[in-house]
Amino acid sequence: MSDAVRVLLRFDTEDILTAQSDDAALALAQLLTRHGVRATFPITAAKVDALLSRGRQDVLTALGRHQIGFHSTSHSFHPTISEELEALSGLEAVAAFSVREEAGFNRVAEVFGEAPTVYTQPGGNWTAEAIPSLLSWGVRCFYSESWNGYIDIDGRPMILAGICHWAAPVSVPKPWLSRLPEMHDDALKMVRQAILEQSRGGRLGLVNAVTHPTELVTKRFWDAKPFGGGVNAGRGSRKPPPLRDRLVVAKALQSLSDWLTAVRTDGAEIDFWTADDLASAFSDRAPELKVKEEAQVALLRLVAGGQLGSVAIGTVTLTPAEALAVAVKTALAVDRGQALSPLSVPRQAVPWDEDAGDVLRQASRIDRPVLQDALSALARSTQAGQLPARLWAGGQALSPLAVAAAASLAALERLQSGQAAQWVPLPEVKLLTRRFVKPASALHWDWPIFAPGFKAPGLRQRAEAACWCLKPVEAEFADHALSQH
Ligand SMILES: [Zn+2]
Repeated sequence: MSDAVRVLLRFDTEDILTAQSDDAALALAQLLTRHGVRATFPITAAKVDALLSRGRQDVLTALGRHQIGFHSTSHSFHPTISEELEALSGLEAVAAFSVREEAGFNRVAEVFGEAPTVYTQPGGNWTAEAIPSLLSWGVRCFYSESWNGYIDIDGRPMILAGICHWAAPVSVPKPWLSRLPEMHDDALKMVRQAILEQSRGGRLGLVNAVTHPTELVTKRFWDAKPFGGGVNAGRGSRKPPPLRDRLVVAKALQSLSDWLTAVRTDGAEIDFWTADDLASAFSDRAPELKVKEEAQVALLRLVAGGQLGSVAIGTVTLTPAEALAVAVKTALAVDRGQALSPLSVPRQAVPWDEDAGDVLRQASRIDRPVLQDALSALARSTQAGQLPARLWAGGQALSPLAVAAAASLAALERLQSGQAAQWVPLPEVKLLTRRFVKPASALHWDWPIFAPGFKAPGLRQRAEAACWCLKPVEAEFADHALSQH
C-alpha cells in the first residue's frame, strides 16, 4: 500500500419522514461524483421503499454510483435490533437478526441490482450477533464507529468472527452537515489533525468521517421525536423535523465542496476509500496459511501456557480460536504417534451461547485418558469449525482452552521424552483478546431512541464470546508472534 492517508466518507441514509432529505442525498451523491470521490452510503430498506414511493429513482441512480451499504431494515422502529437481541440467548439472537433483517437486505440488493458488501448498524445497535448473517449474505465489512462499537483495538481494523470490522473515532464534528457552513473551519481543522496523526509512523493512515444526508436539511435529527425514548409514535403523528432555510442549505453544500477540495490539496497525499476498499486491503489471510511443523510446536508451547490471544505466524494473524484449533490438531497427532505435517487453519464460529472464557473453576490436574477423550471431542468440534463453549470431561466442565493447554503440555512432554505422565496439570487460562471489549461504563446505551435506562449486558457478554474469533489485521499488533520459515 502507498503512504497516502485514506479518508472514508460515510453517509447513513435513513430518514423516511423528510421528503427534502431525498434531495439532500441526491445533492451529496452528485457533489461527491463531481469531485471524483466515491463514498459509502449505508441505506435502510425502509428508506429505499420511501424513495420508490416518492418516485425518486433519480436519487437511487445517483447513490448507486457510490458504494451502497445495508443500514438495517427499519432503523429506529421499536423493537430495534439491540432491544430485540438483548432479550434473547446467544444462538436465538443470531437467528433473530437473520429473521428480522434478511428481507430488508434482499430488498436493498434487489433495488440497487447488487448485494451490499458493507453493513453499518443503526445508531446504538451494535451487535456481534449480526456477523453470522452478514457473512452468509456475502457482506465483507462491518463499518461502525468507536462511539457505538463494543470492541476497540485503538481504532484499527480487525477481523471479528470472520469479517473485516472497523470502528474508528469520527474525525468530523457531530452533527457535521447541519453545522455547515458555520463549522467549516472547525471541520477542516479536525480532519487535518486526524490526517496528520494518521500519516505518522505506526498508524494505518485511515480517517473516518461519518454523517447523514438528512442533517443537511433538518434542524433536529429526524428520528429523535417520532421514535424517541423507546416508543414508536403513531403513524399519523410521525412528523418530519423542522427544516433549515434553503439558502443556508445551499451554503452548506458549497462549504462541503470547499472542504473536499481543501482536504485533497492540503499537502498530505489523500485517497478516498470506500468500505469495500478497506475490506480488500485488510482481508483475512488465514485461510491461505499452511502452518508448518516448527510453528505447530511453537503453538503447543504457547497454548500450554494457558494465556491465549491473537497469534501472528509470519505476517498472517490467527484468532485465539484458530490458534487453538491448530494446536489441538497438532496435539492429537502427537498423542497418536503420527508425524507432523503442515496444517491449514479451520475458521471457527463463535461459541455464542455460554461464557466460554476464563471463569470455569476446574481441578488442577486431569487424568490422561479423560484428557484424551476431551481432546478428541475438542478436535472434532474445531475441525468442523465450531469452537465449543465448554467440554464435559470426568464429570466437570472444562474451558476448551484448559483442555487445549493440558493437551499441549502432554504433547510437548511426549515430543521430548517419548512418553506422557498419567496426570497432566490443568493451567489457569485466560483469553487475552477480551481486554478489547469496552467496560460497560464506556458503552453508549444512551442512544435517544432507546427507552430511558436501557442497558444491554447480554450483548456485551456476547461481544466477549466473539473475542475468541477476534484478531488485529496487522501482524505487529497480535498478542503473540511466531516465525515460520
Ligand atoms: Zn443510522
